[in-house]
Amino acid sequence: MSHSMIPMKKVQQAFSHAVLRRDCRCVARSFEPCGGSLECSHFFTQGSSPALMFYPANARAQCRRHHWEHHCRKDGFYRRWLEMNDPEELEWMERARSRFIRYTDDLKSRIIELCEDDRLDLVAELVRKELGE
Ligand SMILES: [Zn+2]
Repeated sequence: MSHSMIPMKKVQQAFSHAVLRRDCRCVARSFEPCGGSLECSHFFTQGSSPALMFYPANARAQCRRHHWEHHCRKDGFYRRWLEMNDPEELEWMERARSRFIRYTDDLKSRIIELCEDDRLDLVAELVRKELGE
């Protein structure tokens, strides 16, 4: 039963596409002009905070240029952006980011289904429940 059938890549794609459909444009950006195609960008990176990998408030559509800037800028610009735009979610994510989540095939398939139905609100509920909220 430990053999996993659903690749994470498939869940990541479904989630990214849903985030891009939700936002439709580069939403977290500095004053630099946008450049490149839209991508799904995580505030807390997937590597540092796997528990928040599919948490909708942790992801925003950004053009390639601002996505790159987001992960290279060290002056706290994007953290302030989140503090201004989503302070409650930021506070919750700070508490939850180090928790453990087991990405079973069942959980992965539910996330994919909800993303394909554009129900990121329900993905948020699901992740919060998995993280013990
Ligand atoms: Zn941009």
